[in-house]
Order: sequence, then C-alpha cells, then structure tokens
Amino acid sequence: MIINADLHIHGRYSLATSKNMTPNVIAPQARLKGLDLVGTGDALHLKWLKIIEESTEKTDEGIYSLKKDSQVTSENSGCRFILTVEVEDIKRVHHLLILPSLDVAYGMREDFKGNLDSDGRPKVHMNGAEIMDIAHEHGCLAGPSHAFTPWTSIYKEYDSLWDCYDKKPDFLELGLSADSDMADHIEELQDIPFLSNSDAHSPWPHRLGREFNEMKVNELNFQNIKDSILKKKINANYGFDPRLGKYHKTACTRCYKIFDIEDAIKQKMKCPCGGTIKKGVDYRIYELSTWDEPHHPPHRPPYVHILPLADIISRRYNKGVTTVFVQKIWEELVHKFGNEISVLIYTPLKELEKVEPKLTPIIKAFRDKTLQIESGGGGRYGEILFENDPHDNSADKSADNSNNKSADNSDRNPDSTLDDYF
Ligand SMILES: [Zn+2]
Ligand SMILES: [Zn+2]
Repeated sequence: MIINADLHIHGRYSLATSKNMTPNVIAPQARLKGLDLVGTGDALHLKWLKIIEESTEKTDEGIYSLKKDSQVTSENSGCRFILTVEVEDIKRVHHLLILPSLDVAYGMREDFKGNLDSDGRPKVHMNGAEIMDIAHEHGCLAGPSHAFTPWTSIYKEYDSLWDCYDKKPDFLELGLSADSDMADHIEELQDIPFLSNSDAHSPWPHRLGREFNEMKVNELNFQNIKDSILKKKINANYGFDPRLGKYHKTACTRCYKIFDIEDAIKQKMKCPCGGTIKKGVDYRIYELSTWDEPHHPPHRPPYVHILPLADIISRRYNKGVTTVFVQKIWEELVHKFGNEISVLIYTPLKELEKVEPKLTPIIKAFRDKTLQIESGGGGRYGEILFENDPHDNSADKSADNSNNKSADNSDRNPDSTLDDYF
C-alpha cells in the first residue's frame, strides 16, 4: 500500500504548541489532509506518553491508532501513529528520532541526560554523536531536523554531518525552506535519504501535513517504515516551494527586509532597523555546495511542491487562515473531493470549478508551476502573489503579518507569542 507519512510534529507539552495537539484531534485532521501516518512527536515526555497510551491501541508493531471507543468518528479515525521525538543537543542542534514502540520510548528515557519533562522537545546535555548512539542502541532511526535553518540546525553548527555524528545519519530532514533540488548540490548528501515533514505545532490544515513523505509498504509497521527509509525506497517527498519557507532568504528577523549576503556581511549582520540579519537557507546551501547544478542520485525520489489549501483560500478571499470563513470553504472542498491532497493535485479542474470557481485559477497556476511567490526570510513565511489581485495588497500584508511573523516550527523568532501559533 501507498501511505502518506508526516513524521515530525509536536504535542501539547512542547513550548508554544497548541493545546489541541492531542491524538483525538490530530488523527481526524490528518485524515482530512490525506495523511495515513503521523509521528507522535515528543515521545520522551512522560505526560505525553501517558496520553498516547491512554488514547491509542497497537495495530501492528510500533504502530498505534485511536481506541475504538474514542469520540472520533470511525471514518476519520484511520490515521495511525508512530513514535517520534525531536531532541536538542548541547550545541542547540535539533535531531529527529523515530522509535520502534511505546516500550522503547519509556525505556530510552533513562539514557538521556537532561530534564525530559519540562518541554516536549527536551534539551539534553549530550552531543549529536551520543544521541545517535543511544537511538541506535534502541533500534531507532535518527537524523538532523530541518537541516539548514539558521537557529537550531546541524548545518548552522557544522560544515559536515560527520563532524556532528562521526557517522552517517539514517536520514536528513530538509525543512520547509529547502527541497531536494537544493540539497542535492551537496556531495556528502548523495547517499542519504531525505525526509520532508511538517514540524507542526497546531493540528490545523495549514500546519499539519504541510510537508510529508509518500512510501510504499506491504504492511504498516515500524520495520517496514524503517526499511523504506534505510533502503532509500521513499516514493516521493511533498513539501513547500522552498521560497515559501521562513528562512529561505537572508533577512532581518525584526523587519524581514531581505539582504544580499555581501551587504549583510558588510553590515556585520545588523539591519538598519536594529534587528539581526539571519543567513538564509539558500545561501547556506550555496556555501556547502559541491556543484552548480543539482546532482540527483538514482535513489532520490521526486520532490513535489505543495502548499496548504487553507493558505490559498485565505489569500484569495483576504481572510485570516484560521477564520470560520476559510475553514468552511476548506471543509466543503475536502469533504467533496476526499482530502486536501486530492483537491490540490488530483481533482479535475472542471470539477473544482463547479464548487469554487474563484479558487480554481490559483490551483491551476499551482499545478502548472506558474504561481508567483515572494520569498520568505528572517522568520517570515514567503507569500503567494496574485496577478490582478482584486484586493488591496497592503491590507493583505498587514492581515497576514500576524500569521507570518510567528515561527510555528522549532526555529522560532524569540519575540513570537503563543497567539502566533494558532
Ligand atoms: Zn530590520
Ligand atoms: Zn526543531
């Protein structure tokens, strides 16, 4: 069977994460998105493990689904969970671990040095190599999260993965601001499988599943997921056009002005507004590049650009992405055509037009890859631009800022508030 898997999210005990991040909310939302498997996140946090244990049952080795007696309707409860956790090391580098079972999660807690229960994404007093060794002793997979971002990634700290781990990691997570075309400029990544995950901090459809991996497995169990990754048999990566990511370009973290790297260095990475300029993922990859063009190894699957349908609706109607107005249109489309992936990629435009004529040209442009995008940077997401935009663009931007200034994944702008995450 073909499954869509988002292997990196955070639960309600991670900092600045929605209290709605519980299995009973995540599972039905994931199904509407088109996901079959979601990482639990935070699998070293005791209270979170208890919630997983109480609300799910084992369906196969290392795979859990909502208990039958949960309030969630059976139609939408089919999403499965696999145990995952993100850990921050002593150099503030983030690592993603995929675990074989709940028992292993409880058992592994004893091996980590640090307070595992103060934050769903714990900071541990260990380096990357030590974390990798513990993961492997317990049969987990491990690799760097959002590998190129400027605050908490492996490549903000090291020029080579081997400098961190002393060995090859099991995978590399690309993050929202990079894709395979970008990462395959780097020779040391040729033999490493790429994962594309959402790093969602809220269960709503513009966050959960905004990036995911398509895999083919005979049966859905931990061993088959592990094999798909280690044997480099991922069918496809789905994710943002990197220009939509928050750290794609070099930019100020306060006013979001985008800079040429030469100018930024001349100004000692200080913006005239007083803010700090952060190096963009595009430039960091350029620094690490071996080749001018991407060299895709034979095992590398296609990377399909997607963007959240709720964002498209929000921009088209100039309404906030979490408003009832936007959610209603999203639900109508998703219920009519099965799930979000279907609406974005597979539903014939003629069918879409009958339901949402205003959105259809945008979905067409998205499929034709002619959508105009203004790159993100400094912690602000990129934006979709419309030709002949019927709305006042400046009004659009101020409305969007409340959403964009936040960082709902790990690399948050320290100024963001909890409200930014919903
Ligand atoms: Zn600035
Ligand atoms: Zn992170």
